[in-house]
Amino acid sequence: MANLSARQYSSREKPGKTSCNAIWQNTVINALALYYVGAALCVAIIDGANQVVGYFDMGLCSGANSSYAFVRNNSWLAQINEITILNQLQQNPNQTVIISHWHEDHFNLLYSIRNNQQYQPFWQQSSFYVPDTNLQMAINVNQSVLAAGGTFVVMPNIVAPALFQFQINNNPNILCCKMDAFRDAHPHPHHHGIYTMVKLASGRLAFLAGDCTYAGVDINDRFNFYAYIQACHHGGNYALRPAQRNINDIPLPDPAQNPTAVYSANGVTYGHPNQRFVNDHNAIGYVNHIPLYNRFVYFCQ
Ligand SMILES: [Zn+2]
Repeated sequence: MANLSARQYSSREKPGKTSCNAIWQNTVINALALYYVGAALCVAIIDGANQVVGYFDMGLCSGANSSYAFVRNNSWLAQINEITILNQLQQNPNQTVIISHWHEDHFNLLYSIRNNQQYQPFWQQSSFYVPDTNLQMAINVNQSVLAAGGTFVVMPNIVAPALFQFQINNNPNILCCKMDAFRDAHPHPHHHGIYTMVKLASGRLAFLAGDCTYAGVDINDRFNFYAYIQACHHGGNYALRPAQRNINDIPLPDPAQNPTAVYSANGVTYGHPNQRFVNDHNAIGYVNHIPLYNRFVYFCQ
C-alpha cells in the first residue's frame, strides 16, 4: 500500500525549471564526495563540470547521534560539512536526490530545511527518488516537495523477494535498485531500501549501499567489481535478521583498482564501524578502509 504521494513531470513541463544541474541522460559522473556528517550518510554526486548534481542520502547527526558526536572532538567537521552542503543547495538548487531509506541519519539534513523559504528553489526544482513508508517525517518531506512543485518518485514496497532496478533520466552511469527482502517476517527499512551503483568517468565502479542488507542485493550487482564501496550500515551489521552474516554477500571488489571501503561512521555509536564487519570487507579483498570520522570528505574518482 502506498503511503507517500508521487508526482512526476517531464523536463519540458516541469514548472520553474531554470537550471540543468541535476542528473540527466548525458551526465558524466566525475566523482562522489562522501561527507562526514556524524554517524550519518551524505554522498554528493559530482558531474563532468565538477558541479554537484545530486545526493545519495542527506543525513545529519542528530538526536542520540548528535550527543555522541560531541563526545568526539571532531564533530566540528560534520558541522562545517553541513554548512558546505546547505550552501551548495542554494547555489545549485536543481538536484537529484536519492534517499536510501527513511532512517533519520539518512535524511535529517533534508528534513531540517523542509519549511525553510531559503531553499524554496531546491524544493521546487529537484527530483527525489525514495522508498515508500508511512513514517510521518517522510510524509512531511513529501508534502514540502509537492507543495513547492518538485518531482517525487516513490518506489513501492513489494512482497519479498523482489528487486526493481531503475535509471535516472536514462543515464547509463547511475543505476539504482529498490530491494524488498524478508518482507513478511521483517519489514525493517534496511531490507527495503534503495542501493545505487555508479560508473565514474575514470571507468571505476562504486557501490553505495546506504544501509541496505547485502543479502538483499541482486546477485548480478554483487558480482560487479567495485573500486569503491560505501559500506552497508556505516560498517555496522550488514546482515540484520533473518539475514545471516556471510562475507559472500558483500559486493565484490576490483582487485586491479586497489579497492576501497568507506565507512560513513561516527566511530562511537552503534558499532559504526564494527571491526568484525570491517574485517569481513577486508577478507574479500577491500584493501583500504576509510573511516570518515577523522576527515571532512572522501572522494571516489
Ligand atoms: Zn544509517
